[in-house]
Amino acid sequence: LSESLSISFFGATQTVTGSKYLLRTGKINILVDCGIFQGSPEVEQRNFSPFPIDPASIDAVILTHAHIDHCGYLPCLVKNGYSGEILCTPATAALLHILLPDAGRLQEEQAAYANKKGYSRYRPALPLYTSDDALRALERLRQIPFETPTEITRHIVFTPRPAGHILGACFLMTEVFLRRRTVRILFSGDLGRYQQIIMNPPSPPPDADYVLLESTYGDRLHPKTPVDLAIGDIVRRIAHQGGVLLIPSFAVGRTQQILYILRRLEESGEIPRLPVFVDSPMAIDATDLYRRFAMDPNLNLPDSAADASPFQCGHLTLVRSQEESKSLNSRDGPMIIIAGSGMCDGGRITHHLKHRLEDPRNAVLLVGYQAEGTRGRLLKDGAKTVMIHGRPVSVNAKILALEGLSAHADRDDLLRWLRGLSNPPTEIFIVHGELPAATALQAEIRSSLGWHATIPPYLHTAAL
Ligand SMILES: [Zn+2]
Repeated sequence: LSESLSISFFGATQTVTGSKYLLRTGKINILVDCGIFQGSPEVEQRNFSPFPIDPASIDAVILTHAHIDHCGYLPCLVKNGYSGEILCTPATAALLHILLPDAGRLQEEQAAYANKKGYSRYRPALPLYTSDDALRALERLRQIPFETPTEITRHIVFTPRPAGHILGACFLMTEVFLRRRTVRILFSGDLGRYQQIIMNPPSPPPDADYVLLESTYGDRLHPKTPVDLAIGDIVRRIAHQGGVLLIPSFAVGRTQQILYILRRLEESGEIPRLPVFVDSPMAIDATDLYRRFAMDPNLNLPDSAADASPFQCGHLTLVRSQEESKSLNSRDGPMIIIAGSGMCDGGRITHHLKHRLEDPRNAVLLVGYQAEGTRGRLLKDGAKTVMIHGRPVSVNAKILALEGLSAHADRDDLLRWLRGLSNPPTEIFIVHGELPAATALQAEIRSSLGWHATIPPYLHTAAL
């Protein structure tokens, strides 16, 4: 290989979505992560712009994990000419089989809806990709094991190590053997926390010349109060009043943590065994994978041989069909319903909210991030009424928001991980964070470690 080596930032620059980094030597192009942009219309518009280089000129794609902001652009890349392999850990591959076709379906539904309402700037509005495009991307997957160096070419080697973020998640140690020097680049992906339920902390980082570091919560510290105490309180209250506890939840990671906590509280006698309904086919499939991949090094579950299903609370019902989901509306409490979406903006949780918000015996437990402008955020901020299916619904149910279940490292976790490097890297590129979070983390790295860190802008290329 010649001596030239560069990295281009095609996403997750001063924002938390669209992770895509192009590692380029004289001849070889490797894309690390292939995420979709999500959020404001300006940011999402980037999904529809031509890819910055011809996808056919990319030699390999390698993924850190299955969250859609790290892999959701893959079907587009393949549709537009990428024909190489997509490398990822075994559990990530299994999760992609659930998440990517669903993302395609969602794109199709959104385009159809925009056409029906006539609000798209494009006529007709076309989906970014379809579920068939997603299936074609899945054909390109190749599984690579944790902790084992995988050669892309003889000169470029990737080693995935557990990031403690979600099932299958890794950070990537990359070694590029140039003619006169070896360059080591560390892609953090998304890092988990040092204290979390059912997950191990991130592995320590090996030394590197360059680090791409996520900064989602680079300006924040997560609350230290144990979440199971708060969950125990609200469940006992529901049981006492004969109410319904709604838990809007993300399908991957969060749902499994909730089920695990409920089970543990039941077993220690802190809460009674209530009927629990997981009303989400995707969450049911994801829970199955958390069981099947119990040996994934990110997971920290009780000995899987002795405890075949750590997510099985006493009276658990898995709800797949729409009819069964609707039939829950006429059921009396006490009971617990876990359904998506996690921010209450769509999915089956909507009809449960419509039927249960007005009754003061009920409660809603928000367990995830609630973005500005979502119905979940309105509830969290204490709205007295919310609109659901075009009708106002009064909020008399108790609303409780828990922030302790985040799957992302906070500022102290990120610094603790960085301190695992025994030598300062030449440069740290701060990515995957809104500008205030990235800037705060940059200042913290400078003041507490004395290391050099920059915040690359969108489409920036840095020579390494
Ligand atoms: Zn993630």
